[in-house]
Amino acid sequence: MTLRIHNTLTRALETFSPITPGVVRMYVCGMTVYDLCHLGHARSMVAFDVVQRWLKASGYQVEYVRNITDIDDKIIQRAVDNGETLRALTQRMIDALHQDADALGIERPQHEPRATDFVPQMTRLIGQLESQGLAYRVPNGDVNFSVRKFPGYGKLSGKSLDELHAGERVAVLDGKQDPLDFVLWKSAKPQEPEEAKWASPFGPGRPGWHIECSAMACELLGQTFDIHGGGADLQFPHHENEIAQSEGASGQALARYWMHNGFINVDNEKMSKSLGNFFTIRDVLKVFDAETIRFFVVRSHYRSPLNYSDVHLNDARNALKRLYTALAAVPPIAMASIDWREPHAQRFQAAMNEDFGTSEAVAVLFDLASEVNRSLSAELSGLLKALGGVLGLLQQAPQAFLQTGVSLSEADIQSQIQARAQAKKDRDFASADRIRQELAAQGVVLKDSPTGTTWERG
Ligand SMILES: [Zn+2]
Repeated sequence: MTLRIHNTLTRALETFSPITPGVVRMYVCGMTVYDLCHLGHARSMVAFDVVQRWLKASGYQVEYVRNITDIDDKIIQRAVDNGETLRALTQRMIDALHQDADALGIERPQHEPRATDFVPQMTRLIGQLESQGLAYRVPNGDVNFSVRKFPGYGKLSGKSLDELHAGERVAVLDGKQDPLDFVLWKSAKPQEPEEAKWASPFGPGRPGWHIECSAMACELLGQTFDIHGGGADLQFPHHENEIAQSEGASGQALARYWMHNGFINVDNEKMSKSLGNFFTIRDVLKVFDAETIRFFVVRSHYRSPLNYSDVHLNDARNALKRLYTALAAVPPIAMASIDWREPHAQRFQAAMNEDFGTSEAVAVLFDLASEVNRSLSAELSGLLKALGGVLGLLQQAPQAFLQTGVSLSEADIQSQIQARAQAKKDRDFASADRIRQELAAQGVVLKDSPTGTTWERG
């Protein structure tokens, strides 16, 4: 049984073979920690959690790095706005990130390097690029990468430089020799906090976002590693730029397999703060239990677009209930290991080995649940739980899952009604609407009348 992975670089399914037999080195771009994680982050974290779990279940030792960008324009701006230090803001957001990821059953990567701990490696890499003629200094003190000097630029997106230029709205040069050139080192501005400045051979400043990943990946995983992952939105320019920097400096491939997870939409629209359909992981956890959210993500293939809506989440919860109901009916025997020759296990394995085909793997779980209900076999029930565990699912006590989120207390409902009334008073209709939808998602229907709001369970 061999694993095949869809490689963005070649746009093809390829048989996976790691550089070091038995070991997989994987780098996934993590969060810029200036705010809480949203649904898009949840999708990417769950997708690559499933990847690393499947690699481990297949017998590989996995070295998984997911970085933390803790220096960035947005972080500086937010810290100044909040009147707090960069360190205080980023630490608060990293703690929140861990809480959210833990809630969703995402295993911690082996390494979570923070960019600010690797600035010397970044300046060294920039110096190397400069000495190779791939980087140049701008009068304002910045150092830029020269895309025209790197022949492979555009290979990940499959586009030539001319095609990439055509995609630009306005060519703002800003000291650049080519509009696609990007910043490696940003010179310090007088008004910026001291915390955001590092000494370097190019003068005081801070690293650009792209160089962070190139430097940290090389330091922790070596010049060439097996898998590089991230959201589809990172393919261009972020990953293209990582390739240009790393391969420009080393002359070696950065990663052998490039994996990108698909977008997440909300009610069939792109999630955005201005549309009022922007959800943090915490927003969603107020309405749906964590395992339902994870299941919702896992049952779609990681490359497909995913549409979030209350209807889909309710549907996911009901589907997950069917699996837990089988486990509740027939208490599973504990399994030390999975017998991959068993027909269901074999199908599950085949599905996962075809580019992490979780939707087919989940379909196998449903077949297995039907089989458990029919045969009342504790062994098959044990297999259902064990295969669910490979995806980070079905590990709760069935009764505990079946009872969660079933009924909101009357006091909870009243306090939500009050919060909604206040939101309306404040003319915050988006929030008022969201509260109504969240209650509806839990079977509580509101009725407005001139004398106030009443409710009933639908
Ligand atoms: Zn990155």
